[in-house]
Amino acid sequence: MESLKPQDALLIADVQNDFLPGGALGIRGGDEILPVLLTYIHRFQGKGLPIFLSRDWHPSNHCSFHSQGGPWPVHCVAGSPGSLPPSSFEAPSSAVLIYKAIDANEEAYSAFEHTPLHRHLQALGVRRLFIGGLATDYCVLNTVKDARALGYEVCLLTDGIRAVNLLPEDGRQAEAHMIQLGAVPVRLEALAA
Ligand SMILES: [Zn+2]
Repeated sequence: MESLKPQDALLIADVQNDFLPGGALGIRGGDEILPVLLTYIHRFQGKGLPIFLSRDWHPSNHCSFHSQGGPWPVHCVAGSPGSLPPSSFEAPSSAVLIYKAIDANEEAYSAFEHTPLHRHLQALGVRRLFIGGLATDYCVLNTVKDARALGYEVCLLTDGIRAVNLLPEDGRQAEAHMIQLGAVPVRLEALAA
């Protein structure tokens, strides 16, 4: 069992329509984790702990798009319907939004990359991050890597992540890699109320 402590924070990566089934880069099963993530949000909110939500937030000529020679179809163009969370995913107004990869020539899978996230966390005295969201093998993986490199304890919400799986084992390998880096796998039922 894990219990929430005063220096904990929740970080949910990229819950945006384009990453959900039917979206430009829809992730299979991405919608299944939304109720679980909302429950985590309520737990953190109930304890008055900080909540961060990252958003992939690109200009229309972003370097990661096929049209610019990048690996992905157009997705998460800043302010477009695909860049927004689904209406069923209501985050508290106190949640802090972290926008990433906002410049045309800059790709960022990690929520720490060229963002103020680390400064926010330092200002709040956060020591341990509970990380979930989309996608296991990209944003979640790279965010966890950076969090560990910056010295944060990490709990990985294994029931609150889903993988792109360009190769079928990508998600599983990413999870194993994060655990090897020191991330502690956590599920909702193992988090004391
Ligand atoms: Zn992107």
